[in-house]
Amino acid sequence: MKITSIRTALFCSPLKTPFKTALRTVENLEDIVVLIECDNGFIGYGEGAPTAVITGETLGTMEAAISYLAPMLTGLSILNDFEEILHRLHTRLLHNTTAKAALEIALYDLRSKAENKPLYKLLGGTQTTFDTDITISLNDIDQMIIDSLKAISLGYSILKIKLGNDPLQDIDRIIAIHNAVPKDTILRLDANQGWSKEDSVLVMKTIEAKGIISQCIEQPIKADDIAGLRFIKERIQTPILADEAVFNLAQAIFVLESGSADYLNIKLAKCGGISEAIKIANKAKEFGVSCMMGCMLEGPIGITASLHVVSALCDVITMIDLDAVALLSKPPTDCSVVFNESKIILSNESGLGIKYANK
Ligand SMILES: [Mg+2]
Repeated sequence: MKITSIRTALFCSPLKTPFKTALRTVENLEDIVVLIECDNGFIGYGEGAPTAVITGETLGTMEAAISYLAPMLTGLSILNDFEEILHRLHTRLLHNTTAKAALEIALYDLRSKAENKPLYKLLGGTQTTFDTDITISLNDIDQMIIDSLKAISLGYSILKIKLGNDPLQDIDRIIAIHNAVPKDTILRLDANQGWSKEDSVLVMKTIEAKGIISQCIEQPIKADDIAGLRFIKERIQTPILADEAVFNLAQAIFVLESGSADYLNIKLAKCGGISEAIKIANKAKEFGVSCMMGCMLEGPIGITASLHVVSALCDVITMIDLDAVALLSKPPTDCSVVFNESKIILSNESGLGIKYANK
């Protein structure tokens, strides 16, 4: 089962409403899909969402990275050379983590198709039904309350509130949303690097003093300020979740050893794919630290791949933030994976159980 061709395509879809964080506003999802074909006719599908402000990648750099790596992987066997393929993928080009993740997803899709089993089973998982949170974009308070109540009406019980443009307004946002939603709603807060460490302590201590419980505060300060995360962690009750601070295993180990965060957010697009995500989760487990599986603005292939990984590591990946398909104006209907707002159910088909369909 040798690789004969590697090509890319675009997956484009408008979002229901603009996705707004402290870093960016996005109205249309535009992702790269990877199609790897083998000499037995099998095709593996992968996907990655270029996120210039986080990974430094664009549609153009992803296409260039994939076409640069393609000849180094072509001709190798999915069954006999799988480790060598992954080794070349990760050592012959630095960075470009989303491009590598898209390639790896397609490779694992093929590998599990070759073994005629769903990817989660190849990775050792059994769970197939999952519940994701949903992102509440950063807007004025009235809009965020409308969006939160709409999400609750659609069945979501966990809201991920985007913050980070103004600490005092952010306090008002959290209080207003907390007061508006049912009391059993779980709140996750994400400032996307938008606060200073002093702002972070101010915001979190203020809402903690009001008895507002949030499951975590995600990446309150700049990605490279690990000492700052520790400063905040020592002063607040709410657990800190490191996102942009942790791309790869080395950074995960640094954060874990320094005790700078309570949780890690793993994203295939940050770490370079499934193999590194598994290593990060296993390392976090050694430290007794739980993880979130997050995503960029990915379509069905990327989200499905992430859930296969969660299935295999659900004892350590305890939080699921894989809502990107739910944000699409037209969710996929022609696939065997079920996307029904917060509920996502993997199929028993071999591989990912999903194909490229740009409709
Ligand atoms: Mg985040």
